[in-house]
Amino acid sequence: KPSIAWFRDDLRVTDNPALRAAVDDGGAVALYVLDEESLGIRPLGGASRWWLHHSLLALREDLASLGIPLLLRRGPADAVVRETTTALGAGGLYWNRRYGEAERTLDAGIKAWAGASGVHAKSFQASLLHEPWDVTTKQGGPFKVFTPFWRTVSARDFRDPWDAPECGRGFSGRLPDQEELDAWGLLPQSPDWSAGLAEYWQPGRAQAHELLEDFLEQGVADYSVNRDRPDLPGSSRLSPFLRWGQLSPFEVWHAQQRRRRELGDGNAVFATELGWREFCWHQYFHHPDLATANLRPGFDHYPWAWPELDGPGKKGPEKSGHRSADATLLRAWREGKTGFPLVDAGQRQLWRTGWMHNRVRMVSASLLVKNLGIHWQLGEQWFWDTLVDADAASNPANWQWVAGSGADASPFFRIFNPETQARKFDPHGKYVAEWIPEIATPDYPQPVVDLKASRQEALDAYGSL
Ligand code: FAD
Repeated sequence: KPSIAWFRDDLRVTDNPALRAAVDDGGAVALYVLDEESLGIRPLGGASRWWLHHSLLALREDLASLGIPLLLRRGPADAVVRETTTALGAGGLYWNRRYGEAERTLDAGIKAWAGASGVHAKSFQASLLHEPWDVTTKQGGPFKVFTPFWRTVSARDFRDPWDAPECGRGFSGRLPDQEELDAWGLLPQSPDWSAGLAEYWQPGRAQAHELLEDFLEQGVADYSVNRDRPDLPGSSRLSPFLRWGQLSPFEVWHAQQRRRRELGDGNAVFATELGWREFCWHQYFHHPDLATANLRPGFDHYPWAWPELDGPGKKGPEKSGHRSADATLLRAWREGKTGFPLVDAGQRQLWRTGWMHNRVRMVSASLLVKNLGIHWQLGEQWFWDTLVDADAASNPANWQWVAGSGADASPFFRIFNPETQARKFDPHGKYVAEWIPEIATPDYPQPVVDLKASRQEALDAYGSL
């Protein structure tokens, strides 16, 4: 009997314990299910759909080179996985764990069904260095502060990454019907905005490893200084590959630990960033509504605006008294036309490439929620739609961090000044010039908001919470 390796956020053949288990248990069939229907599963954004399409093509090739077929199916995962398991007569069903509440409920249901149907189902840890339920404070609760969290997690030994399974251990019998990837419509049609994405990214294992190697060779030594500079290639750009599991955190961790001594400081800071990824997932596991509710309920009364782009603007979540909304401000921010060059450059980089530099993400998010007074959830939704690394935990956790409403968040009164930030982190204006060709012409807009007055307004609103 064959076994199924059910791929989800782990689109890789190395360090994939579920794939190894399926191979060892009768020969593997790989399965990917596009689930846009199950309750509570957040539909993918546009950039993510593009990434997924190309990743599945790459994964299919990687699997084919091992002799393992990849089955593509669409529909509610619960029904699709059962049907496929039955149609194949599979004796085993293996997957690497997911940590969202809806996903865990779904997986638990399938495991129970498998148990009752004589199918051996087993799940593995592969996407996080720690299991969120395994790390608790002395009082037994979740961590709310990063430093003690990471001190606890990073003191552990993380297992070594696994090799890819041996070639020729796939299932070669008759496969059930499957669907064509092209029929899923994951790629944008009209307009097709994906040219910029294709210029910067080749989703799949090859670019992931190339970037990792380049970064460890050239980037990580100066990472602690250069990572804040959007005008330099100072960070790894591994985020979409980690998001989609083309690289596992174990692979990245051990690759950089091996060079720990020769690389010093930069390496240690880089390791801490992997820690922030873990911390975001820790928060999401304990707060499944991270994208829709302030972690600090005091912020429910902050008068954020909730403009609707195609309407007159409506009030946000009912309990709060949101300021009247101005859709033009939200539109200007999304399109990179706020008149603040660093923010606009970032928003254009995001639109064109599906990625934005971390420092600029922070400054841009701060402008939206503090100076423009717009709800962080609208910013989170825009990033969700446009980032190739859009991540169910890291995105809302970081938005809440900037907004001040999150765990171990930046204090609300820390309001970035985009002009000072630009002078400091893009000192020669190179980043801005790259993304805003019209910067020095009359076509570039005037600032849409007065920084000083809006800052004071935000502080007053915060003070009256
Ligand atoms: P590097 O600096 O090379 O860091 C290495 C890895 O560590 C990253 O690939 C990422 O996996 C992780 N990491 C680094 N910083 C953070 C962080 N602050 N939080 C969580 N993980 C981190 N990151 C996402 O992966 N997905 C998101 O949807 C996302 N949304 C964000 C929204 C806002 C408003 C902000 C301020 C940050 C967001 N981040 C998000 C975090 C961070 O900006 C990106 O992880 C980083 O810019 C990715 O670039 P890199 O791979 O070169 O990072």
